[in-house]
Amino acid sequence: MTVRLDEKLQPIYQDVLRRNPGEDEFHQAVHEVLESLGPVLAKYPEFAEHKIIQRICEPERQIIFRVPWEDDRGETHINRAFRVEFNSALGPYKGGMRFHPSVYLGIIKFLGFEQVFKNALSGMPIGGGKGGSDFDPKGRSESEIMRFCQSLMTELYRHLGEYTDVPAGDIGVGQREVGFLFGQYKRITNRYESGVFTGKGLDWGGSRARKEATGYGTVIFVNEMLKARSDSLDGKKCVVSGSGNVAIYAMEKAMQHGAKIIACSDSSGVVIDEQGIDLDLVKRIKEVEHRRISVYADEKKKARYIEDGDVWAVPCDVALPCATQNELNGKNAKKLVEQGCIAVGEGANMPTTPEGVRIFQDAGIAFGPGKAANAGGVATSALEMQQNASRDSWTFEHTEERLEEIMIDIHRRCFETADEFGSPGNYVVGANIAGFIRVGRAMVAMGLV
Ligand code: NDP
Repeated sequence: MTVRLDEKLQPIYQDVLRRNPGEDEFHQAVHEVLESLGPVLAKYPEFAEHKIIQRICEPERQIIFRVPWEDDRGETHINRAFRVEFNSALGPYKGGMRFHPSVYLGIIKFLGFEQVFKNALSGMPIGGGKGGSDFDPKGRSESEIMRFCQSLMTELYRHLGEYTDVPAGDIGVGQREVGFLFGQYKRITNRYESGVFTGKGLDWGGSRARKEATGYGTVIFVNEMLKARSDSLDGKKCVVSGSGNVAIYAMEKAMQHGAKIIACSDSSGVVIDEQGIDLDLVKRIKEVEHRRISVYADEKKKARYIEDGDVWAVPCDVALPCATQNELNGKNAKKLVEQGCIAVGEGANMPTTPEGVRIFQDAGIAFGPGKAANAGGVATSALEMQQNASRDSWTFEHTEERLEEIMIDIHRRCFETADEFGSPGNYVVGANIAGFIRVGRAMVAMGLV
């Protein structure tokens, strides 16, 4: 059952459906934000007067292009790539690139839309954008991935720039791919423009703690939610979905807070280790060897691997969805609540379905939505841009300290905004409204552009 929108917002949503047919994830992301905005329009009529919501739902620019490339056997492949430059009211478009076979315009638009509010919430001077391709990197050699990245950048470079649009990684795009993309950008433009990409390697303009930032930030946010309830992560049992960049560093930070991780996953199955996940082993399997998580149970005899298993069926105190969109549905949410889960922090973007979110909120558990909980990644990307602009390189400790301050501030802003607009403890409402107001005010100030 979907929540009914405020009557002023219904025609706007109908228009979004009509203008963007078949883009289910985009519709879902827009609906979820509009659900929160009724009280904002009542308090600030200037947003309706300037048609800010209609404008915010329409990307400023959408680029779709062909990416031809040759595999190691000399066969030609054609992929499709996207860059959606959603909103630049607060700064250059900023958001990652995703390589996954499921990518189509609707996914990139949902991610770009979310990014606008997340970036606003981070307090940094960055607009929102997102990109990607339906290219599947699984099973591809390093040279194939390099050729694909070079071909993609041969078109994309003309749309980028440190003051225009600054991509980063996402699913399927880590430091290796960022290297290939940045290398080709540098070659074509004949410019060493460090600030045009974030998530770079430490030797060539990257920031310490960027790799860790999204997962660390998610856990800092969850700990803040628990603190607000006079509780903490210490001694809690956690379950994490995925075993990629966000999942690995969410596990690391949760362990530093005294939590025990008992399960993680990938798209093939789930690993359960009641003694506590051995993170060094996960890092070796995923970051060094690029293999499947099933290898974990081959090496740890006391761990169990369940092929196609459901990670949310494992009882826990805290759930951290860190894999992909709509991976945690109403049925999963019900089970988690029944089994005593007290907090959920979204490391991934929109991993919980609307029904799942409602079940968590009705049960009164602490729920941190992705656009707030995982904003530490993009915030640290903005710190990387700051270091690039001043030709500086900060220590890990200093960068992590800044990340922690930013996450605590995001938590505080969501908490206070939810209170101010009559939904105490509802971080979804707090995040949507606080993000929207910052972007909306900048758009009003800049006139009809
Ligand atoms: P990675 O590619 O490093 O890892 C993704 C993980 O999720 C892998 O374990 C992958 O398994 C699993 N996964 C991906 N797709 C599916 C699927 N359809 N079904 C089940 N499992 C899946 O990506 P990241 O860790 O960077 O990103 C994870 C999430 O976090 C995404 O939602 C992303 O948008 C979000 N995010 C990432 C940020 C970042 O800084 N990287 C910043 C903010 C949000 P497998 O290897 O088997 O595919």
